[in-house]
Amino acid sequence: MPAPALITSSFPTARCAVCDRHVLTYVAFEGDVELRNCVHCDGVVEADLRWINASELEAAGYQFGARAPSSGGGCSSGCGTCSVRKH
Ligand SMILES: [Zn+2]
Repeated sequence: MPAPALITSSFPTARCAVCDRHVLTYVAFEGDVELRNCVHCDGVVEADLRWINASELEAAGYQFGARAPSSGGGCSSGCGTCSVRKH
């Protein structure tokens, strides 16, 4: 039996000197060397990763997946397109 799918995902963030903030990172390999890159500028970030969970990620300004449209949409800025971010 598969275990229940709990939301235990965590996401690697690190400080990006270029973006001057903590950013979400992705892994890239240069030969055998594992590098962490900024999702925004593709620059290599510090290796000191901070793993955060989904709610912390959203608190940091990231949005992922499709939010369930409930209780007014959840966007306080009135942008109307907050669920279709391109960045
Ligand atoms: Zn960056």
